[in-house]
Amino acid sequence: MRPLNRPEYNPLDVFFQCVAEIGEADRQKPFFENQEHISQSVVDFEAATATRSWHALPRVGRGHPEVVIRGTLTKGDLVSLYGDCLVGGAEARELYDALLVSSDEKCPFCGGIGQVHTLDHYLPKSNFPIYSVLPDNLVPCCRDCNTGKMSSFATQQSEQTLHPYLDETKFFTERWVHARVCQTTPISIEYFCSPPEEWPEIDKLRAKSHFDQYNLARRYKIQAGAELARVIHSRMKSLRVLSPAQFAEHLGDHADDSGYDLNGWTRTMYWALRRSLWFCGADFNEPPGQAQAEAVA
Ligand SMILES: [Zn+2]
Repeated sequence: MRPLNRPEYNPLDVFFQCVAEIGEADRQKPFFENQEHISQSVVDFEAATATRSWHALPRVGRGHPEVVIRGTLTKGDLVSLYGDCLVGGAEARELYDALLVSSDEKCPFCGGIGQVHTLDHYLPKSNFPIYSVLPDNLVPCCRDCNTGKMSSFATQQSEQTLHPYLDETKFFTERWVHARVCQTTPISIEYFCSPPEEWPEIDKLRAKSHFDQYNLARRYKIQAGAELARVIHSRMKSLRVLSPAQFAEHLGDHADDSGYDLNGWTRTMYWALRRSLWFCGADFNEPPGQAQAEAVA
């Protein structure tokens, strides 16, 4: 969960830059005829942003490109504006690339596990075609987050995942992902979502929706595996001389490293390791059988 700066493009400029990519004048015509409807849709999105209730914007079912969305604009007109003009256009494609670059290559949804690969429609274009090229609705995303989510969308406010451009700062500056050390063989890290008690219920639910929909418990755990093996290896070698308290302090330096996301797998893992008395005091040089027996006892 990384926040991203909100794109500074004028939504209508982007919209009509995409329209300009359409070669034939008769295909451009409906867009010019429906300018008022397009402007109103942007106003509606702004209003939804103010209350974080994008789920309540008008939507349509999948398929049916002929269905009329606003004025005389059809779903097919609007969806093709994205594929043919923003992705497949010439000048508009530069906007697409600029939005991708804004992510610094790290996917904001999974906290940079994945490398940015595409733009994700926060509101899927098949259900919310009027927002197919709205900059606020286009978020850089990795392949796993994009395919995992597919075109699912929230039907209730509590189901809305976090929006990297538009959500409250606290989702990115307060700790709501936690982890515990599991004395399994090999040792593993279990991640879970646990927002601050004082958060409003709706925000707790949204954090949980984000955590679940992007499958972060499993994906974080997998990431942590290799790093944890390295930590244990160092503890057995160069860090062997440290007392449990000194080792905890060493782990704490990583937990406090602001170069990583506060709720990302790395800092959360080090935070959990530092707080585990068992982990900080364990002698990993002991034969596994003996260490295991003590851990169980
Ligand atoms: Zn991702």
